[in-house]
Amino acid sequence: MKRIAVLGATGSIGTSTLDVIARHPDRFRASVLGAHRNVAALAGLCVAHRPELAVIADPALEGELARRLGAAGVRCAVASGHAALTAAVSGALCDTVVAAIVGAAGLDSTLAAARAGKRLLLANKESIVLAGPLLLEALRAGGGELIPVDSEHNAIFQCLPGGRPDLRASGVRKLILTASGGPFRGRTRAELATVTPDQACRHPKWSMGRKISVDSATLMNKGLEVIEAHHLFGAPADAIEVLVHPQSLVHSLVEYADGSVLAQLGNPDMRTAIAHALAWPERVAAGVAPLDLAASGTLQFEAPDLATFRCLALAFQALLAGGDAPAILNAANEVAVEAFLAGALPFLAIAEVVEAVLAELPPQAAVDVESLVARDGQARATARRLLRRAC
Ligand code: NDP
Ligand code: MG
Repeated sequence: MKRIAVLGATGSIGTSTLDVIARHPDRFRASVLGAHRNVAALAGLCVAHRPELAVIADPALEGELARRLGAAGVRCAVASGHAALTAAVSGALCDTVVAAIVGAAGLDSTLAAARAGKRLLLANKESIVLAGPLLLEALRAGGGELIPVDSEHNAIFQCLPGGRPDLRASGVRKLILTASGGPFRGRTRAELATVTPDQACRHPKWSMGRKISVDSATLMNKGLEVIEAHHLFGAPADAIEVLVHPQSLVHSLVEYADGSVLAQLGNPDMRTAIAHALAWPERVAAGVAPLDLAASGTLQFEAPDLATFRCLALAFQALLAGGDAPAILNAANEVAVEAFLAGALPFLAIAEVVEAVLAELPPQAAVDVESLVARDGQARATARRLLRRAC
C-alpha cells in the first residue's frame, strides 16, 4: 500500500491524482492532503478521501478547516503554514509525494520530499526550473526517486530505456517535446494584442489551472518544460526540440542514433501520466478512454512560431545563459502572468516583462537555495517595478 501526500490537492492535478488513487483502494491511500486557501474544497476532499492529515498553507484558515472537518465527522489531524507542508512530506505519514502546488511556492516542499528520500511525483515544474541542480542533489542525498508527471516528461521517461539513463551511452540523439500550440496557435501578433484572460485560459485540448493555461497560450509552458527536460534527463539545449502538435495525442518523442523515433501516445488526460507515475514500474487503470486512432483523423506536426510566441525563445535563451537565469525567467513570468490574469497587463507584454527582467539581472551562479530564493525575490521586485511603469 503506497501512502501518498498530495500537495496542491484542490487543483487540477491534485483532483486528477485523487481520482486515480480512489480507483485503487487496495494499492494507494491519500494520507496527507495540502492546499493554499480553498478551505471548502480541501474539507470536501477530506470527507471523500479520509487522509490522516490535512494542511492548509494559510495559517488564518486552520480553525475554519478544523471546524468544517469536525462538523462533517472527519477525524484527521489539521495543520497550517508552509512549514507544516514541508514537515508533512518529510515525515512518516507518506512514502510518496505528489508535488502539485503551482509556482515557486512549491519549491520548499518539493525539496523537502527529495531530501527525505520519498518517491517524488513532480508536476510542479517551476521548482525544477528554479532550482534544478539543487533538486537533483537533494534527490541523490535523500536516495529517493523522481517520476515526472508533466505529460511530455512522463512520455519521454516511458520512451527511454530504464527511465532515466545516460543519454549518449543509450544512443539518444534528441528529445522532442510536443506542444499543443495553445488556444492562439496560428494567430499574428496584431491578433494577440487584445486577447483576454478568459480566452487565454480556454485551452483547446487540456483542462488545467489558470496559470499553466496562460503559460500554454504564450508557449512559456513549453519553455519551462525545455528547462525541466534539460535537468530531468541531462540533455543539452541543442538536443531538445519543440514540435507543435495540435491534436495533443503524441505526448513527446525520443530520437535515437539509428533513426528510430519512439513516441508515447494517449488521450489528452493527465490521469494517464499520473497513474503511470503512481504505479511505476507497474501499470494500473486511470479511468481514461482508450485512444481511438482510426477516429482521431490526421495528426499534424509543425515548427513553433518563435517570433510570435517569444516566451519559448526567451526560455531557450535563459537555459543557454545558465546560472540562475531560469529562476529569473520563472519569477518574472509568474509576476507577469498574475498581472495579465488580473487584467492589468496585455498578453504580449508578458514576454516583454520577462525579457526586460532578464536583461536587468544578468545571470549569477546558482549556489544554494537561499541565494536562489533571494534572486527569485529580486526578479519579482524588478518585474513589479516594470509593471508599475508600464501601467
Ligand atoms: P491549479 O491552479 O489548478 O492548482 C494549484 C494548487 O496549488 C491548488 O491546490 C492550490 O491550492 C495550491 N497552491 C497554490 N499556491 C499555494 C501555496 N502558496 N501554498 C500551498 N499550496 C498552494 O494548478 P494545476 O493543478 O493546473 O498545476 C499545478 C502544477 O502542476 C503547476 O506547477 C503546473 O505547471 C503543473 N502541471 C499542471 C498540469 C495540468 O494539466 N494542470 C500539467 C502538467 C504540469 P488552493 O486551491 O487552496 O488555492
Ligand atoms: Mg506539460
